[in-house]
Amino acid sequence: MPSPQAAFLHSPDIERYHYPPTCPFKTERAGMTRSILDGMGLLTGPDRAEVGFTAAPRETLERFHTAAYLDTMRRAAAGDLDVAALAMGFGTDETPFFREMYDYAALACGATLHGAHLVTAGEVTVAFNPSGGYHHAQPEMAAGFCYMNDVALGCLALADAFDRVLYLDVDVHHGDGVQDFFYDRSDVLTMSFHETGDVLFPGTGKPTDIGTGDGEGYSVNVPLPPGTYDEAFVRAFEAVASPLVEAFDPQVIVYEVGADGLAGDPLADLACTNNVYADLTRKVKAFGKPVLATGGGGYHPENTARAWALVWSVLVGERAHDTLQVGLGGVMLESTDWQGGLRDRALVTSNEQRRAVEPAIDEAVEAVRRHVFPLHGI
Ligand SMILES: [Zn+2]
Repeated sequence: MPSPQAAFLHSPDIERYHYPPTCPFKTERAGMTRSILDGMGLLTGPDRAEVGFTAAPRETLERFHTAAYLDTMRRAAAGDLDVAALAMGFGTDETPFFREMYDYAALACGATLHGAHLVTAGEVTVAFNPSGGYHHAQPEMAAGFCYMNDVALGCLALADAFDRVLYLDVDVHHGDGVQDFFYDRSDVLTMSFHETGDVLFPGTGKPTDIGTGDGEGYSVNVPLPPGTYDEAFVRAFEAVASPLVEAFDPQVIVYEVGADGLAGDPLADLACTNNVYADLTRKVKAFGKPVLATGGGGYHPENTARAWALVWSVLVGERAHDTLQVGLGGVMLESTDWQGGLRDRALVTSNEQRRAVEPAIDEAVEAVRRHVFPLHGI
C-alpha cells in the first residue's frame, strides 16, 4: 500500500474530553466530523488515513507557554483555582475550569504537532486536526475557549524545518494569539480574515496592524463586516491572499478553518454557507504547498462538523461532486432535514446586504494593499 498523502488526526482518546456542558465550545465536533466522513466512505482510502497521536510534551509546550502558566493550569485542573489561575484566565465563561483542561489541551496540541511532523517528514502533503485551532491562547493567558495554542506551536515546529511558513486563519475571530507571537518575525507570515473587531471578540486585527521590526509586513489582517456572504468573503480572499502568497512564496501552510463564519452561528454575525470553506480550501490547495489544517471555532456543532467534512473532502481532492453537492439541508434548516449531502444550499444575497457589505470589504482590501503590499514589492 502506498503511504497516504493525507492524515486525518483523530483517535478515540480525544473523544473522552469535554468542556463543561454549559460551555458553547463542543469538542464533540471532531468526532462528529469523523462520523460523517466515515459514513460517506470519505475518511480512509489508499491516499488517506486516520492517524493517532500523543499529548505534546511539556518542553514542547514551553516553546510558546510560560512554565508558570503551565504549572498554574495543572494546579487549577487539580482543583486549586487560586488568584494566579484567575489572573491567567481560568474559570471564566469562555475558558471555564474543568478537570481535564490540561490533558485535553496538551493532547490537542499533540495532534497538530504530529501533523507538523508528518508534513515536515514529507510523509503527507495534507494533515487535518479537527481538534485544533486554539488561536486565542497567549503565552500566559487562556482566552476564547483556548488553553494552549496548538497552531502557534505548529508554526514554530514548521519554522524549524522551513524558511517561510504561512499561517492562514479564516476563523470568524481574529487569530490574535498566533499573530502576537510572531509579530516581529518574517519567517512566519500570519494572515487572518475575521469579523471586524469593532463588533466581535477579541476586538483586534485591524489592517494597520502589520507587524513590527523584522516582522513589518508579515502580519496581515482583513476585517469583514457583519453579514459578509460567501461571494464577498472569497473576493476579499482573492484580492489579499493570492498576491501576498505569490510574493511571500511559503513552503508550507498552516490553515485554521474555524467554521464560525457560517450563517446562524450563535457567536458571530457572518452570513456564509459552508460552500465558502470549500472554495477557500480549494484556493489554499491550489497554492501547491503542503497544508496543515486545523479546526477552530464553530458553535453550531452539526453545521460545523459538516463544514469540516467538506473541508477534508476538498483537501484530499475528492471529486465525487454528486456526493458533495447534494445538499438537502444547510445552515438555514434544521440538521434533521439534512439527508446526506455535505454542501449547504446557496443563500440569497439581498441588495441591501450587498450595499452594507461591499464598501466595508473594499475598504479593508484597500487598506491592506496600501499598508502591506508595498513591503512585499507588490
Ligand atoms: Zn472563532
